[in-house]
Amino acid sequence: MFNLKNSIGEIRGIGPKKTSKFIRLNKFTIADLLYYFPRDYIIKDDSKKIKDLNENDVVSIVVEVATQCVSKRTYKGLTITKFLVSDDTGSIWVTIFNRSYISKQVKLGDDIRISGKVTRGSGSLEFTNPNIEFNNISREVSLITPVYSTTEGLTQADILKIQKEVIDKYSKEVKEFIPDDIRAEEKLCNIGFALENIHFPSSIKNLKLARYRLIFEEFFLLQLSLMKMKKHTLNEFIGKALINNEGIDSFISSLPFELTESQLKILDEIFLDLESTKSMNRLVQGDVGSGKTIVAIIALLKCIINNCQGAFMAPTEILAEQHFNIIESLLKPLDINVGLLTGKLKKSSKEELLQNIKNGDVQVVVGTHALIQENVVFKDLALVITDEQHRFGVRQRAILSNKGDNPHVLVMSATPIPRTLALILYGDLDISIIDQLPKGRKKIKTKAVSMENKYRVYDSIKKELDLGRQAYVVCPLVEESEAIDAQSVTEKVEELKIYFPKYEIGILHGKMNSAEKDEIMLRFKNNEIHILVATTVIEVGIDVPNSTIILIENAERFGLAQLHQLRGRVGRGSEQSYCFLLYKSKNKISEQRLKIMEETTDGFIISEKDLELRGPGDFFGIRQHGIMEFKIANVFKHIKILKKVQNRVELILKEDPLLTLEKYPALGSVIKDKLLNFDGI
Ligand code: ADP
Ligand code: MG
Repeated sequence: MFNLKNSIGEIRGIGPKKTSKFIRLNKFTIADLLYYFPRDYIIKDDSKKIKDLNENDVVSIVVEVATQCVSKRTYKGLTITKFLVSDDTGSIWVTIFNRSYISKQVKLGDDIRISGKVTRGSGSLEFTNPNIEFNNISREVSLITPVYSTTEGLTQADILKIQKEVIDKYSKEVKEFIPDDIRAEEKLCNIGFALENIHFPSSIKNLKLARYRLIFEEFFLLQLSLMKMKKHTLNEFIGKALINNEGIDSFISSLPFELTESQLKILDEIFLDLESTKSMNRLVQGDVGSGKTIVAIIALLKCIINNCQGAFMAPTEILAEQHFNIIESLLKPLDINVGLLTGKLKKSSKEELLQNIKNGDVQVVVGTHALIQENVVFKDLALVITDEQHRFGVRQRAILSNKGDNPHVLVMSATPIPRTLALILYGDLDISIIDQLPKGRKKIKTKAVSMENKYRVYDSIKKELDLGRQAYVVCPLVEESEAIDAQSVTEKVEELKIYFPKYEIGILHGKMNSAEKDEIMLRFKNNEIHILVATTVIEVGIDVPNSTIILIENAERFGLAQLHQLRGRVGRGSEQSYCFLLYKSKNKISEQRLKIMEETTDGFIISEKDLELRGPGDFFGIRQHGIMEFKIANVFKHIKILKKVQNRVELILKEDPLLTLEKYPALGSVIKDKLLNFDGI
């Protein structure tokens, strides 16, 4: 029986050799090829004339051969054939490699159709190795040919031929799985039509219909799968119910501050989860400085009181150590053993720590990625917390969870992202939001200042330092190279020394080893260093409440999210804090960004604006997120479609809260399948 999951080897025209090439493209089955969408299309639009051509245009035009072919051999043994073609607006060269036989077909004065990409040859525009039709050239306006990504040994022509075969033969075999009623309401074409027209569109209009359906489909299946995962976790993963609350209230009242209402509300949500046997899977989103750490610590405490272990994973060593110090200082007095596990631990102390984790003597383990290495074994892990989750993939989170018997999972993120995106990035999690800053925080005063007025900013820094406060100076990322960044930081320090002779200046950059970084951070915390000059390594989580002023150089180069994160290093105490955004030059977008930063400190508003302003992929550092690897959809470009999908999913959930999808068996089985090979995130 024919099956879409059959190997591509079955397809006529694909032998073992081509199969191996397709495997290199990650295409194994017929279904893979059906979903191997063109990366572009050549649109045969006869209205395009030679004078309209620009570099990189992919076009198909009818032209007249204007010169004879000239062929020559290069010393490397290549044959280059060249001829000129023209229309009534101009002429352009055609260059062909290693197909000298073509010169027999090219006849002066003939009309031919040239299809391909316009490139820049030696100075002028030309076609290099285009497709050429000599006889019976098609004259239709708007004939659309797909362009596929190729790999060595598989040419465009190869793939085109195979795809033609695949689509003709199999596209109609794919069973529709989006229910008719939903398709009708969402105006989605059927799957066969969509596959046919995404590969070989019969018109632009049909291409658009096909694309819309397939984008909708991709979001829809992912969103449903994530929701289903969430339901699955809720219903089947039995974790530990951590019921005992002894000592929690007195711990909370011993804190030097009162928890905000928002923190209390989220603690309630977390406690409710922890007290049930269903494993918690919760994301806490809270703006920088909203006080997520203490919430995490209280959750850890609850876990220990119930005789279980807790783990706390942070993305960087600096952050792990900072958390360790805070957690240890708060929990040690309660006779709780806290361990710190990072990559740099000496072998002997590491072995000892691992032993103590294994036998349960260490109750809370704080660490970096080192926590998810195989040799870390817990006695009874019941709660896993990851900080700044956007830096971790779902997979890493899962590995950590697997170290216990379905431990409760809490992820914390300071990147407030709009709900629409949160639903697709963290759709498998329940979401809690801390939407309130601790009392007494003053709004950080932010000003964009042109580079020429740098010294005025230095004066402001001096004023703060004279009051006993501390400052950050953030140097721009010059290059992707840490060595060059380090150099720019060093130069900056030299410059600052002249203006701040009285003050101690420290350096922090990615090229330093972690012992060096720690030492600097410790001295900064102890107010032995007054100005910390750094690259963006200080971006995540660092908490020194006495620093009240931050200067960010070349702020126009940073994205909103990064600026927001960096700015969050100040304003963490009760004093008025300041942020200066120094710019050299501004374009329209960077000007808008700087203005938004001046106007608001609310991370959610900033993230909404970020979504509007930035190009795809740059948003809030989630580029690394595996989830962005969509086949056709794009969470930034297609946000409207994503919203429609989410509304639709909500409707389905209303009717079918457990998402059994019994009403829609075909859809149900596609989702089940997807969950089995979940590689979307
Ligand atoms: P983030 O949410 O960015 O991780 P932190 O947890 O680092 O923020 O908290 C920022 C600072 O606010 C810390 O110095 C912390 O001790 C303090 N803090 C937390 N909660 C409160 C509160 N309710 N009142 C006053 N200060 C608080
Ligand atoms: Mg934090």
